[in-house]
Amino acid sequence: MIIPAPIQNLINALSRLPGVGPKTASRLTFFLLNAPDELSRDLAEALLNLKSSTAYCQVCFNITIAGRSECEICANPDRDPGVICVVEEPLDVIAIERTDGFQGRYHVLHGVLSPIEGIGPEDLKIRQLMERVRNGGIQEIILATNPSMEGDATAMYLGQQLQPHRIRITRLARGLPVGGDLEYADQSTLLRALAGRQEMG
Ligand SMILES: [Zn+2]
Repeated sequence: MIIPAPIQNLINALSRLPGVGPKTASRLTFFLLNAPDELSRDLAEALLNLKSSTAYCQVCFNITIAGRSECEICANPDRDPGVICVVEEPLDVIAIERTDGFQGRYHVLHGVLSPIEGIGPEDLKIRQLMERVRNGGIQEIILATNPSMEGDATAMYLGQQLQPHRIRITRLARGLPVGGDLEYADQSTLLRALAGRQEMG
């Protein structure tokens, strides 16, 4: 049976999403085909707005609303500008914010160092982090990359780069599931890891 192009197009597009195989993509497509028009319209509108209505914070590179240069956290005078928590992805910011145990600010790297995938320091927001440090006023940098091989290697690299700056450099305590993502850690585990953070040597 030949699948009409408009249907196949959506199946192909959905199949490119992480965690969605061709089978799920087909199921979702046929679901939408049979659902009220409104659902497709809402979905299409939300998808189009996703990129056009968001931007990266020019300070920490977290996600913000388009047209704003700073995210809500950077713009909040109650957040301690002297403590910066360095994370891999914006989702990690959300995970740490959920714990309610961090009053500092963030810096989102947008990835990790990965020689295998050809991702070097210049591909991440590392230069921008160093700039923030050079601008002064920072007492502590918490390296909160994932407890994976790449996350550890990235933390180690950053630790070396930051060492000459004479600021406290800490790494989240062990106890997070190794190889796991920060975003999947439960709140209490993450809170403990944050509270028990240790100086990097
Ligand atoms: Zn920000």
